Amino acid sequence: MKTLLKGGRLINPNTQTDAVMDILIEDDVIRAIEPNISIQDATTVIQLTPEHWVTPGLVDLHVHFRDPGQSAKETTGTGSKAAAAGGYTSVCVMPNTQPVIDNLQTLDYVNNVIQNDAVINVYPSAAVTKGQIGEELTEMISLVKRGVVAFTDDGHCVMNANIMQLALRYAAMVEVPIICHAEDTHLSAKGCMNEGYHATLLGLPGIPNTAESVIVARDIELARFTGGRVHFAHISTRESVDLIRRAKADGLQITAEVTPHHLVYTDAALSGYDTDFKMHPPLRAEVDRQALINGLLDGTIDAIASDHAPHTPDEKTLTMDHAPNGTIGLETSLGVILTHFYQNQLLRPIEIIQRMSTQPAQCFNLPAGELAVGMPADIAVIDPNLCWTVDPKRFESKSRNSCFKGNNLIGKAIATFVAGQNVYADPTFEALKQTQLMAV
Ligand SMILES: [Zn+2]
Repeated sequence: MKTLLKGGRLINPNTQTDAVMDILIEDDVIRAIEPNISIQDATTVIQLTPEHWVTPGLVDLHVHFRDPGQSAKETTGTGSKAAAAGGYTSVCVMPNTQPVIDNLQTLDYVNNVIQNDAVINVYPSAAVTKGQIGEELTEMISLVKRGVVAFTDDGHCVMNANIMQLALRYAAMVEVPIICHAEDTHLSAKGCMNEGYHATLLGLPGIPNTAESVIVARDIELARFTGGRVHFAHISTRESVDLIRRAKADGLQITAEVTPHHLVYTDAALSGYDTDFKMHPPLRAEVDRQALINGLLDGTIDAIASDHAPHTPDEKTLTMDHAPNGTIGLETSLGVILTHFYQNQLLRPIEIIQRMSTQPAQCFNLPAGELAVGMPADIAVIDPNLCWTVDPKRFESKSRNSCFKGNNLIGKAIATFVAGQNVYADPTFEALKQTQLMAV
């Protein structure tokens, strides 16, 4: 089986390639990347135009597939299909499942489900502490040997600095990062949105910026002290961006991600009491949003991650103070970033693919994020000018809690290949395939 993607604009940050180029997929690997590959060499030819981007499959470091335990919200099957529809070929799943991924038996279950049900590459993370209650470390070394790529108590912060320090030392031995969900729970307390003008106006308890930044500052110092690697999840405040920028200048092994929703919304979005805008960390003020954008542009922030957090409609119809946190994002992240950063000319195409594929892969040492002969054919085909409206009813995800519902976006993945398998194709891509087959 040989598939030829012909005439597209190939964007590969690792080689700094941004040029019209053909790419030949044979079975599960990339066989050739050349300016003009003969259609004789292929069984299927897809005739693209220079308007189409052919890129390494996108990589999302932060998704919740709710498996095991909450299959009404999402499963590995539905979550991975949603990822494929968003152009993703590799994701890292968070361990705050029921039960928590904090031991080898649960990890074995997860690995088994991934092998059977996932249509893309799914990499498990595991908890830093047993039950994510912050007291006793998990068997970190054994978990890494069985495939864990990072540790995190995501959803909770490791509040005990000594536990965090020990975790960093163990993680350093096996060269994996600790993902920090930075939230001092004494400061965030019962807050359910950003502390400030809008919280006061709405009469809701607020979460101050310091709830995040004091933990970011603490974990930077622990990384400095232990030599460990810290990856900051979903950073949301201007203070966090400043701290991370300085830590990187000091040469520390620090990486960070930001979500599309923190890049495009502020706490003003909660004015209609719509709980799809309730997340942890909360949407912040405009000055924070601008700092996140600057951090993304200047390289302080390495990766864009969706923090895809599915919840049932029943849960999300609770009042703002009781509804669970989070928005789904796998099927909208690329469109949101293309609309706000490509169409507005803030980032070049290669810089977008760097932040959504190449650099995320590097943060967790994943075998992804590049196009190279002999590597698994994990590829996204993107139409950066396709206009579409976000309709959660049409999502592959089981859940509908998208804060981007109703948005008019420009740009979308139209096909996704994982190890040479065409796991997602939008109708416009199918049309390209058929035309060329008839012509041949
Ligand atoms: Zn989190």
